[in-house]
Amino acid sequence: MELTVDDEHLGRPEAQWKASGRHVGLEPLVLPRAQRVIVVAPHPDDEVLGAGGLIQVALARRVPLKVVAVTDGEGSHPDSSVAKGLDLASVRFHESRIALRRLGWEKPDILRLHLPDSEVAQHRTHLDEALANILEPGDLCVAPWRLDGHPDHDACGEAALGASRRVDAGVFGYFVWAWHWADPQGTDIPWRHCRRLDLSRRARARKRWSTEAFLSQTHPIGPDLADAPVLPAPLMRRFWRPYEVYVDEVTWT
Ligand SMILES: [Zn+2]
Repeated sequence: MELTVDDEHLGRPEAQWKASGRHVGLEPLVLPRAQRVIVVAPHPDDEVLGAGGLIQVALARRVPLKVVAVTDGEGSHPDSSVAKGLDLASVRFHESRIALRRLGWEKPDILRLHLPDSEVAQHRTHLDEALANILEPGDLCVAPWRLDGHPDHDACGEAALGASRRVDAGVFGYFVWAWHWADPQGTDIPWRHCRRLDLSRRARARKRWSTEAFLSQTHPIGPDLADAPVLPAPLMRRFWRPYEVYVDEVTWT
């Protein structure tokens, strides 16, 4: 699926999700007692956009946490001449560290796999092996939903599910791009298998502050159209909700 974001392609307005009330009847997410929580991030920002609330819960419970940064997100502005001189990989890694610190994680444990941005599916073997080495029985793996709609996200979701099953780890799927394309009234999202994690006012405020660290994605990096934000403000509202939604992959599959 091609995900286009610009002034004319802002996806599903947040007001429609809110009005749909689909989240209201969802069962609450009960975070299982996990040995560790492993958050798989296709690009440096997904870990916070999708799971910034859950990360805070894990921190509060002192559950050991690790982020697996699958790509460095260097391909976020493929046609931008400004981006070519920026070292986006370093910029985005730095932003991710700041964002995770803003969630209250003093020393974020980030394992970088350096797979090429937009080509995760072509490097599945590498990703499968890496996750098999990282995950242990009793871990909880939190990864993009495998039908989230961006090829890197889908590949990470598939890989996380496969690896978790093999080692007997739990797995929850989070949403980033599904909020962009899915129909709130339809069955695109497997609601019956979704769980809602309510965020306290404080946790919600922290998550929002954290998402504001991703300046290379939320603001123009230069004067041209190719420098426009990947995540303009209307899209960011999806990630400032007072709740997060996860697919319980085990009950769904
Ligand atoms: Zn992403």
